[in-house]
Amino acid sequence: VTYQHSIEMPDQLAEQRSMITSDEEERQRLGYHVTRHYTPSGDRKFYAAQAGDRSILNLSYDHSGKIVSINHGPIPSNRDEPISGFTLCTACNRWILGRNGVAEHLDQTNEMKKCWRRGTEENIIQNILLYTDTRHDVIKIDVPEMYDETGEPIDDILFTPFIKTLAQAIIEGIQISLNVDVDEVKYLLMVNPQDNNRSSIVLYETSEGGAGILESIVTRSIFHRIVSEALVILHEYEEKQCDRACYECLCNYYNQSDHDILDRKLVLPLLRDLLTADVRVVKDTSPTTVNHYEHLISQCESSLEKQVLTAIYQYGLPLPDSAQEIISENDE
Ligand SMILES: [Zn+2]
Ligand SMILES: [Zn+2]
Repeated sequence: VTYQHSIEMPDQLAEQRSMITSDEEERQRLGYHVTRHYTPSGDRKFYAAQAGDRSILNLSYDHSGKIVSINHGPIPSNRDEPISGFTLCTACNRWILGRNGVAEHLDQTNEMKKCWRRGTEENIIQNILLYTDTRHDVIKIDVPEMYDETGEPIDDILFTPFIKTLAQAIIEGIQISLNVDVDEVKYLLMVNPQDNNRSSIVLYETSEGGAGILESIVTRSIFHRIVSEALVILHEYEEKQCDRACYECLCNYYNQSDHDILDRKLVLPLLRDLLTADVRVVKDTSPTTVNHYEHLISQCESSLEKQVLTAIYQYGLPLPDSAQEIISENDE
């Protein structure tokens, strides 16, 4: 998708937004169509929660993951109307709101609302998107195989309910076991470009710079605490259990639009397996890194070089930028 008009929100404005109360935020959430997107930085650490050699979850930790929030504009009161971004008058630098806003702004007989700089049609820019682009502590979680109680792969239709339920369960597990506020860690889903049915869970700390919450969850003992807390929340050890989801477990005011699809039973088999899984550092299998590794290997001139490079890669350490670089003393 390409957008013609977009304006990065100045830092000052972004600062103000992080100060608003949750009431205001809620109003904002209902009032505007906002989407969030994650772009990994070049420096990630990779982990896997494994049972034997099988990976149950793949995780990557990114200390400066880029989270882009796009505000596509106010949601029209009539939900059938398209969302059409923001409108700006460049003559007076004012945002124009409302269905008749432009007509009123350009009408010089409208004493209340007219443009004081006598703006014309040419000064009006429509369909503007606002965005913020900030760096956060991020953990991306992938589930290589979603399976049911018998170990059989689940149906494609259940992929999204599964992932959303798992994301909610993990977030709540983090909140309880690490004593984290509801606003401190959030998640977004990132659709897999190769398979639109599948999504990754992207957890991010909302404060820029990070408080170390997400960095800690790849520690085996903390990871297990989060999983066991998630199981408690999902009524695993209770007599009285809800059918799919309730306000005691997965449902809350903010995820109302997902209440119909949340189903704790979908993720229980996976969480039970995670309870005894090992969490290990693994090599980076993202295409960019694999290509780079293969390129470096092809340039190796001895088997020792190959061995060292392979070990660096297997242990998930950062690869050298280049190979066979000649460093000369008199280099200018
Ligand atoms: Zn104007
Ligand atoms: Zn429940």
